Amino acid sequence: MRLVIKYGGTSISATKDIKAIAKYLSSLSKKNQIAVVCSAMSGTTDDLIEISESIKKENKSKGEQLAAKIINRHKQLAKQTITKSDVQKKLLVKLDQDFTELLALIDGMVLLGEVTPRSMDYLISFGERLSIKLVSASLNDIGLKSIPLTGKEVGIVTDSNFGESKPLMDTTRLRTSKTIDALFSKKTIPVIGGFTGADQHGHVTTFGRGGSDYSATTIGSSIKADEIWLMSDVDGLMTADPKIVKNAKLLKEVSYVEAIEMALFGAKQIHPRTFEPLLSKKIPMKIRSSFNVKNEGTLVSATPSKAARNTVKCVSNVRNNGLIDIRGGSMVGNPGTAAKIFETLAKAGINVMMISQNPSESSITIVVKNTDLDKATSSLELELLGKIIKKLEVTTDVAIIALIGSGMRGTVGVASKVFTSIQKNKVNVSMITQGSSELNLAFVVKNSDTNTAVRALHNEFALDKIN
Ligand code: ASP
Ligand code: MG
Repeated sequence: MRLVIKYGGTSISATKDIKAIAKYLSSLSKKNQIAVVCSAMSGTTDDLIEISESIKKENKSKGEQLAAKIINRHKQLAKQTITKSDVQKKLLVKLDQDFTELLALIDGMVLLGEVTPRSMDYLISFGERLSIKLVSASLNDIGLKSIPLTGKEVGIVTDSNFGESKPLMDTTRLRTSKTIDALFSKKTIPVIGGFTGADQHGHVTTFGRGGSDYSATTIGSSIKADEIWLMSDVDGLMTADPKIVKNAKLLKEVSYVEAIEMALFGAKQIHPRTFEPLLSKKIPMKIRSSFNVKNEGTLVSATPSKAARNTVKCVSNVRNNGLIDIRGGSMVGNPGTAAKIFETLAKAGINVMMISQNPSESSITIVVKNTDLDKATSSLELELLGKIIKKLEVTTDVAIIALIGSGMRGTVGVASKVFTSIQKNKVNVSMITQGSSELNLAFVVKNSDTNTAVRALHNEFALDKIN
């Protein structure tokens, strides 16, 4: 099989874990062609972002201190992990070149005193540049042929939307498949940096936080992989957060559309565009743990088995949001009201997570993150209060509870089951939405009612007996 295997940051942050991965890949590579994709080691991207913050605040020494932390950590891990002295030496030379470039970049940014989206992407791309060298060397160390490649080097070409770029798929497909096919024919395992690519001028771009998942599927669809595995520190997608529900179960199979809903609702952090490249090619994806490879994880595919198609899959929750109830008599029958409200919020850079409007049109309710609440409220007050809006009512600290699964589609009585069990538990519901796809039924409760609501639904739909 042709496999793309992606490792998240926590999977590659300790010597013993990197060694275990190398061994695992070695046995897999006997029968399969493997392209590896890596995130940065855990915490590195955060540190790089903090460096940019220090530069903005003209705190050069803080930036350099953080760079030293990154450098030391990678050097130390390289020395601990790579046992053959020639392999280790070569690795340290390559890492040193990156360190020199990183420090020069920080110097340059400090001199200019500004962080542009372009320099920011260049800076935060270093995490993956470093991690791939280490992982690739660990394969060399046990006698496998492997080379590290950044997203740019493998051939991922993107638009110039720094910080949130998208691959130009046709160019990317041509270039990456050429690079990777050539390596496969030489029995060499490419270890590719996730999260980044380069625009047509060669400037480094990134896909946004968590973007290595998206890199993996972009590469997988380019080389016509048979499967893509996302390896991290969780066993797969679960029926609920196991911290809330003790008997939460691992989901064996879900469809792409269900997984997209689950990703949006934060069940496991997956980059929101991860599934895009898979939809047309229908490449199956597995979500697995690198710490527990005996476990097959969750299979995400276009065509789950019939049994898996007909069920409610999970109840997820997102805490710490704010609800804004927007009211006004002149909103009734007035075309363009919603447009004005959402335009105002969009201009303020607010991401709206849930929307509902009652049929009398006298109120629109939205949910945003607690951290966006202040900005959302003030921009609505400033632009629209006294005009189309008469009153804003704000509730902080609410949670979104979402029931997800294609089994809800066309099934009578799901909503009544949900709200009866919620009511029995004396939880008050302040807003409800269901998309017409019927994949997701979501409602809002107080933060403090989250656990009760999640447990009640998990129980009501017997999700502990799902597989
Ligand atoms: N290293 C990047 C981040 O931390 C990308 C990724 O981990 O997927 O967001
Ligand atoms: Mg990640």
